[in-house]
Amino acid sequence: MTERSEGIKKHGPVVTPSDEGGPMTERSEGIKKHAPVVTPSDTGGFMTAAGPIRRDGRGDPFFDGAAEDRLVVPRCASCERWFAPDATGCPGCGTDDLTWAEATGEAMLVSWAVTHSRTGETAPLALVELAEGPWMYTRLETDSPRAGLPLRARFVHPDEGESYPVFEERDR
Ligand SMILES: [Zn+2]
Repeated sequence: MTERSEGIKKHGPVVTPSDEGGPMTERSEGIKKHAPVVTPSDTGGFMTAAGPIRRDGRGDPFFDGAAEDRLVVPRCASCERWFAPDATGCPGCGTDDLTWAEATGEAMLVSWAVTHSRTGETAPLALVELAEGPWMYTRLETDSPRAGLPLRARFVHPDEGESYPVFEERDR
C-alpha cells in the first residue's frame, strides 16, 4: 500500500464543485485536494478530456494499444514495476527509459468523481488501480460505483480522435 493510496481512501468518493471554472479546471482542482497524484492536466488530459482525444506524442504506445483493444502502459524493465500511462520515469531505479507493455486490463475502483459542466453534462472520472499495480485516471462506466469494485477495460473507438479505454464492471 502506498502513501498516496491511503490518501485517497480516507476521503472516499470525490465530488467536485459544479459551478466554477471549466470542466478540466474543476476536475483537476477537485482531485488535487484529495489526491496527491497525477492529475488529468498532467496527462495532457488525453484520457479524461471531453471531446475528441488527440495524442501528444508521449503516449503513442498507449493509443496504438487502445486502437487494438489492448491496455498498454509503461513498465520498468529492471524493477519490473508498472506505471500509469503518463509516467516519465521509474522512481525505483531512477531510469527515465521505461518500456511499454500490455496489461491485463483488469482493475479495481479506487476513487471517482462526477463532474458537472455548465451545460448540464456529467462526466464520470475514476482513479483505478490496475491489476499490475499502477493507478491511472480513466473514464468509468458503472451505475453503482463503490471502492474496490472490480473493473475491466473496454475500448472505445470514436469516429474522431484516438481510441481510449473506459473501465466497466466485471464479474470476479
Ligand atoms: Zn526501475
